[in-house]
Amino acid sequence: MKVKWIDETDRSHTIPADALGSDSVEVAACTCGANRVAGTGKHIADDDRHYEARAVCISCGAHRGRLEVWPSTLFGLREDEQVFSMGVKVY
Ligand SMILES: [Zn+2]
Repeated sequence: MKVKWIDETDRSHTIPADALGSDSVEVAACTCGANRVAGTGKHIADDDRHYEARAVCISCGAHRGRLEVWPSTLFGLREDEQVFSMGVKVY
């Protein structure tokens, strides 16, 4: 799985694994000084290959671009979600 932060100027940053928290990720500091953002409104992107969420500062709530999560999908995310929600195990 790969996580990218697309900042306010549309530049893409790959988030290193050690900067990934359970509910937020470490990015360049906000104007308020906090350097973590949380994702909100996660949804499957149009290409069906990754998730997108709005990135917001965990301290002041400022909009900080967006987060992209790229799982290793088997069939495309919509189909994967259907398969996994049916309880089918994929080996
Ligand atoms: Zn902030």
